Amino acid sequence: QAKEQGRNSFHYFTQKLQDRASSRLMLENQLREAIEKQQFALYYQPKLELHSRRVLGMEALIRWHHPTQGLISPADFIPVAEETGLIVPLGQWVLEEACRQTQEWHQQGFTHLRVSVNLSARQFAKADLVEDVRKTLERTKLSTDALELEITESMVVDASSSANEKLVQLRQLGVEISIDDFGTGYSNLQYLKRFPLTSLKIDRGFVRDLMVDREDAAIIKAIILMARGLGLNVIAEGVETQEQLDFLLEHRCPMGQGFLFSPPLPADKFIEWIDSTELDFDTL
Ligand code: C2E
Ligand code: MG
Ligand code: MG
Ligand code: MG
Repeated sequence: QAKEQGRNSFHYFTQKLQDRASSRLMLENQLREAIEKQQFALYYQPKLELHSRRVLGMEALIRWHHPTQGLISPADFIPVAEETGLIVPLGQWVLEEACRQTQEWHQQGFTHLRVSVNLSARQFAKADLVEDVRKTLERTKLSTDALELEITESMVVDASSSANEKLVQLRQLGVEISIDDFGTGYSNLQYLKRFPLTSLKIDRGFVRDLMVDREDAAIIKAIILMARGLGLNVIAEGVETQEQLDFLLEHRCPMGQGFLFSPPLPADKFIEWIDSTELDFDTL
């Protein structure tokens, strides 16, 4: 009987693996098709200067309008896009569209808006990344200092002088470089002084439990102080409550982003939101 059970669970196991492999393959095929049929959209989430509540820019976040499954979150397809290399054309589209849209908003008078674009590991590793960025900025005519690229710790820590060289060249273009999900990667901090970064984004995980977890609060305070000492900007991700905002203000965190202010919005809703909040300021 034990043998029978063993065989069954083995069968179950391989079946599950096959299911997973085939659903992955399905997702991969659907992604290819989605790229051709342009089923993607960018949503924009405001990034605010906390003490003034002024919107200084926005993060572009990709969404997939699946024909039958509705809106699919990037967490569910970015990893597959990354493994298959589809992230390269997809990432180029994101960069191009974010720059195009931001330039359009600049022309409509929202000239202070800066856009942040997430880069995947594979995109960052591409030998001609800097050329791609330079050409995209040229094509879209977006001013180079209006673009910020978000990378993660693992991309710079694994890598070497070639990563550093790329960042130096991007900085020479005028593009800013931010470390996303800061505090969740390697603990090697040497890259903070070696690499020409401009900003750290405190991971949402630290902000979430800030009011109940003293360790999280201590880490956030330390990151803010360290960044200030290094001359880097800091932005807290995932600010959801007034209490979190009060803590961040008290500890002089310069910037924040989160549902307390606004979720990521489609382009037209985003600019409506900006318009109405800026009006609020004028009438204050
Ligand atoms: P991320 O770059 O750290 O983006 C922040 C994520 O936090 C977004 O999730 C955003 O919707 C979410 N968020 C913002 N404020 C709050 C809040 O107050 N509470 C909570 N619970 N969540 C909040 P999203 O849009 O689902 O994106 C997830 C991740 O997918 C991103 O994390 C990023 O790593 C990746 N991603 C998104 N768009 C792109 C893209 O165009 N290219 C690449 N390579 N990756 C992308
Ligand atoms: Mg990001
Ligand atoms: Mg993040
Ligand atoms: Mg993330």
